[in-house]
Amino acid sequence: AMARFPFVKPLETFDFAYQPSIDKRQVLTLASCHYIEHGDNVIVLGPPGVGKTHLAVSLGIKAIEAGYRVLFTSAAQLIATLTKALAEGRLDEKLKLYTTPRLLIIDEIGYLPIERIGANLFFQLISRRYERGPMILTSNQSFGAWGEVFGDRVIATAILDRLLHHAVTLNIRGNSYRLKEKLKSGLVR
Ligand code: ADP
Ligand code: MG
Repeated sequence: AMARFPFVKPLETFDFAYQPSIDKRQVLTLASCHYIEHGDNVIVLGPPGVGKTHLAVSLGIKAIEAGYRVLFTSAAQLIATLTKALAEGRLDEKLKLYTTPRLLIIDEIGYLPIERIGANLFFQLISRRYERGPMILTSNQSFGAWGEVFGDRVIATAILDRLLHHAVTLNIRGNSYRLKEKLKSGLVR
């Protein structure tokens, strides 16, 4: 409950056979949580429905089981919270909310365009956690498109520079799991 996951699905429920572009051994290594001790980030990229949120949640559950404090948020939620806090003069207080958990999971970078102020606040958070607090991030957009996502190539580059300095990237290329059953039943072709 502490972590605010959108759903609770342990890694054991993830069907690796359906998504061969994912290196199962790499994910099992991440499940051991060494990346948290090293302060490494995990970035999960891929189109909708391929299991990015599922993997982020599953790794979050592993981290909780290992005793770490974990917070899960969407990028939109995080930016809305920080933007409101800035307007209310409580930015420092709210930034602490996102810097104190040992592992911060930021889901769905790229689904919604980010305003300039939001991009700046996101950069501030990434800078504060840089080389201190590991993160798991998911995005439907390749790194090359993050300039458009953040509406500013310079800020996107600065964000990526810090994120990728110590990071593992999982690139998922495959079909949406959401369409799996429909494909099977012939409803979609
Ligand atoms: P994404 O975040 O990439 O859009 P999700 O992680 O939300 O996709 O996955 C969509 C749905 O399909 C979720 O209910 C998720 O649990 C399920 N799912 C996706 N990939 C797998 C998989 N390989 N094995 C089991 N369930 C999966
Ligand atoms: Mg998702």
